[in-house]
Amino acid sequence: MSIQPLFFEPVFKERIWGGEQLKSFGYELPYHKTGECWAFAAHSNGQSVVKNGEYKGLTLGELWENQRQLFGNIEGDRFPLLTKILDAAQDLSVQVHPNDEYGLKHEGDLGKTECWYIIDCEEGAEIIYGHTAKTREELAAMIHEGKWDELLTRVPVKPGDFFFVPSGTVHAIGAGIVILETQQNSDTTYRVYDYDRRDNEGNLRELHIEQSIAVTTVPAVEPEIQPVVNTSDEMKITTFVESDYFTVHKCELEGSAKLDQNLSFQLVSVIEGAGSLVKDSEKYEFKKGDHFLLPSGFGEFELDGKAEMIVSHL
Ligand code: ZN
Repeated sequence: MSIQPLFFEPVFKERIWGGEQLKSFGYELPYHKTGECWAFAAHSNGQSVVKNGEYKGLTLGELWENQRQLFGNIEGDRFPLLTKILDAAQDLSVQVHPNDEYGLKHEGDLGKTECWYIIDCEEGAEIIYGHTAKTREELAAMIHEGKWDELLTRVPVKPGDFFFVPSGTVHAIGAGIVILETQQNSDTTYRVYDYDRRDNEGNLRELHIEQSIAVTTVPAVEPEIQPVVNTSDEMKITTFVESDYFTVHKCELEGSAKLDQNLSFQLVSVIEGAGSLVKDSEKYEFKKGDHFLLPSGFGEFELDGKAEMIVSHL
């Protein structure tokens, strides 16, 4: 049997800050407040499942465990990436992730570096990205005194913006933003501030103040990333970031393009439009909201259509 792209069924997560915007991707949402669509997930809290071909019905985690050749036989105790689409109808809590060293030492889990592509947002939407403290003492004092307006750096966003969020970056997604997030496959999160919000039972969510102070990069460093654009007649490829953890591109297809997949694997999320992929004279249709993995050894293929895709790989 010839090698196929693997299309995945996402997992949806109910969140207090979620909404119904993910319907615009063609999904039937299980909740009124759906916050997250886990597109490529091999995690104990959620697994995306193959929809087609010989691996139909298997989870990404099962493929990683038992079909490692699909990923070029790379090593690792877990699938390295997690891709989500988030709908923030309300502000997410302000948080920071440790690096791998701190995470493994204190939580027995990896740290987390992530990145965000802004798919859509309301006029005036903002994220929190960094802070103003010059020393760790100053950071601790401002947190303990609740000087949030002074401490947290707010950045206005628009569709098409991209943000690299290395471990140690204080960050939050603001209300009215739909983003695609590519991240290390880990869950180690320290919550710094939750706007003093209470849940339905009147409880505040747990904060991790001491850990947050310990792992935050001080002073804040604005990551130097410069998008690189490669344009051919049929496809414009913007490379946003090439980090130790992942490389992320946006591909804008218009027409028909010949491509070659010679990496360990590539993850493709279609965020706009539709088209088809042709491999060994088999044709696979795709549209906005689809997520497919191109396995190791996939080789040459052709894309045709008008679509925007976010592509990530190691
Ligand atoms: Zn985060």
